[in-house]
Amino acid sequence: MTSPRRDGDTWDLASSVGATATMAAMTRAIATRAALIDDPFAEPLVRAVGIDLLTRLATGEEPSGDLVGRAAIDGARVRTLFYDEFFLDAGLAQAVILASGLDSRAYRLPWPAGTVVYELDRPDVVEFKTRTLAGLGAEPTAERRVVAADLREDWPEALRAAGFDPALPTAWSAEGLLGYLPPDAQDRLLETITELSAPGSRVATESRPNPRPGEEDRTKQSLNRISELFRSENFDADMAKLRYFGKRNEAAPYLTGLGWAVTGRTVRELFEVHGLAPLEEDDLRMAEVRYVTGELTK
Ligand code: SAM
Repeated sequence: MTSPRRDGDTWDLASSVGATATMAAMTRAIATRAALIDDPFAEPLVRAVGIDLLTRLATGEEPSGDLVGRAAIDGARVRTLFYDEFFLDAGLAQAVILASGLDSRAYRLPWPAGTVVYELDRPDVVEFKTRTLAGLGAEPTAERRVVAADLREDWPEALRAAGFDPALPTAWSAEGLLGYLPPDAQDRLLETITELSAPGSRVATESRPNPRPGEEDRTKQSLNRISELFRSENFDADMAKLRYFGKRNEAAPYLTGLGWAVTGRTVRELFEVHGLAPLEEDDLRMAEVRYVTGELTK
């Protein structure tokens, strides 16, 4: 039974918000099998978490069908490539992947020599990934440093303790994260990133427009439909309970207000750029999300 979100709640990769990291990796495993991206670690990581339905989907034993629609799989392509390109274009020697989940960039991107990559997520999440990938014999392609911390708490202290140097320009990512933070924690996160950023730093995240009247109800209904399908396959994840709904500051203008020069493209535009078939009626709320990057020139 999924509990509603509350301050101080915790999880591993099979529960609550942690399971969303396993779902994201499952879509990358499917997209990898379809040759849309190349993330060889997604499938073994999902398998290691051990949620039966997600393993069957990740390995192709269960057809994605209604459970993981085309938009989610093509969406995994545009999202993965967006963040991959962000880090490679930034070319900065210090990178911080916030809410890293089962993201394997520290093991698969061709980072420039000498790059230090910090991966921050809740303790059970980062420790599981480190252990599992070590067990598979995977080697990081950069100097990888793990930060076990909660983004609602004093994570800058944990980041500094791991060796982070605020005097160096940093490439930051917050992928698939913001909706799982309360609105004020999102603002604080973006402010803290800014405080820790030397001139020349870059940031990448998603900026979701505030919902139009009635839109959140439709989102919850569609999340409830997916959760029902999952439940019928013995996977109990109540997706609508995991996110924080309601009005919040949109990330892109908020970052602009903090001094970042922000550019971006909506998911709809990225589908066009990648030559993917347009999103359909049910997926239009996803189409409006903007993947944005910012550069700090202060
Ligand atoms: N970025 C990864 C990806 O795209 O595959 C994971 C995205 S997953 C949808 C959300 C991630 O946010 C999970 O790994 C979860 O543990 C992390 N997360 C959410 N709230 C967090 C918090 N307060 N502190 C640390 N991590 C958090």
